Amino acid sequence: MAEVSLINLSKIYDNNNKVVNNVNLKIHDKEFVVIVGPSGCGKSTTLRMIAGLEEISEGEIYIDGKCVNNLPPKDRDISMVFQNYALYPHMTVYENMAFGLKIRKFDKHEIDKRVKEAARILELEKLLSRKPKELSGGQRQRVALGRAIVRNPKVFLFDEPLSNLDAKLRVNMRAEIAKLHKKLQTTMIYVTHDQIEAMTMGDRIVVMKDGVIQQVDVPMNLYFKPHNKFVAGFIGSPAMNFINGKIINDGRLKFVSSKNGLSLYITPEYYDILKKYSNKEIIIGIRPEHIKYEKPEHNYSTITITSELVEPIGNESIVYFTIDDVQFTAKINMVNGLHLNNSIELHLELNNLHFFDKDSEISII
Ligand code: ADP
Repeated sequence: MAEVSLINLSKIYDNNNKVVNNVNLKIHDKEFVVIVGPSGCGKSTTLRMIAGLEEISEGEIYIDGKCVNNLPPKDRDISMVFQNYALYPHMTVYENMAFGLKIRKFDKHEIDKRVKEAARILELEKLLSRKPKELSGGQRQRVALGRAIVRNPKVFLFDEPLSNLDAKLRVNMRAEIAKLHKKLQTTMIYVTHDQIEAMTMGDRIVVMKDGVIQQVDVPMNLYFKPHNKFVAGFIGSPAMNFINGKIINDGRLKFVSSKNGLSLYITPEYYDILKKYSNKEIIIGIRPEHIKYEKPEHNYSTITITSELVEPIGNESIVYFTIDDVQFTAKINMVNGLHLNNSIELHLELNNLHFFDKDSEISII
């Protein structure tokens, strides 16, 4: 059992700046939780407080039911994997993995057993006598994982471990770490700024901004039911389009954007909630993939746009256009025949609209 609980956790630096602000989070035993957010949002600081590498300003951290606030890192039963995995260049793969156990005075046979088991799990058995310079980037990162595994910790902490790898290798390693989690069945906390990494790896994802948790949820809920405009814009690529406007009640509910560039009828399923916003300003969000080139069967609103940029990405194209001075993108599956400055009709899927309160930016529906 290794549940990790963060209770009213804050980090305050000298200038009174709360870079982690009252974080409450329970990570369940064997869970893979990803903390994601833009650079500087406080994810690494949170992880480093769990590891014991950063002093806690306020709040408590429990690992496996025990308050660890005053425990040094070595007594917390955690292993951490960093972006800069810094293997010892003069040691072999075997020695690199064994080193941490050796300085902890583990018995030689126990060390051998653990290193060989980790090498088996990570498919490093044939590389045990090589030096780091004789390994590829991915193999080196696997050795760094091996170094963490041999410790047999209660919790693994990962701080952007794949950031230094090229795009293809990152995708491979993502899958390897996910597989590793299944094999080891250990609690893992993983920090990244990459929302795709978060979406593909996490059992649950914690989205942070300015030191504050915005939403904790399973990946699909972050995509379909974002709690606020920030989460809606952060998860998904290209990002969700947003436009400000008003709800007007002319017998039916209608959204009209601030500069009248977009006007659409709201589907009746949203009436009950949006009625209260009659004559009030709101923000509408729609994802690029929910603006279609071919006409959907029902519940759509057609707009005529002028393409300002077309990016073919293989099976789809990203089209850029402007409504009310706001840059919009649509991901459409028209690949050929669309050029700059073409006037085309696109269709907004009305069932996939998101609505946000203008002041709080919290999702209304
Ligand atoms: P992230 O991992 O999300 O990129 P960090 O947790 O590293 O962000 O940093 C959060 C914020 O704390 C940043 O604004 C950073 O500038 C600030 N910060 C980090 N270390 C210190 C420090 N030693 N003194 C003052 N501010 C710091």
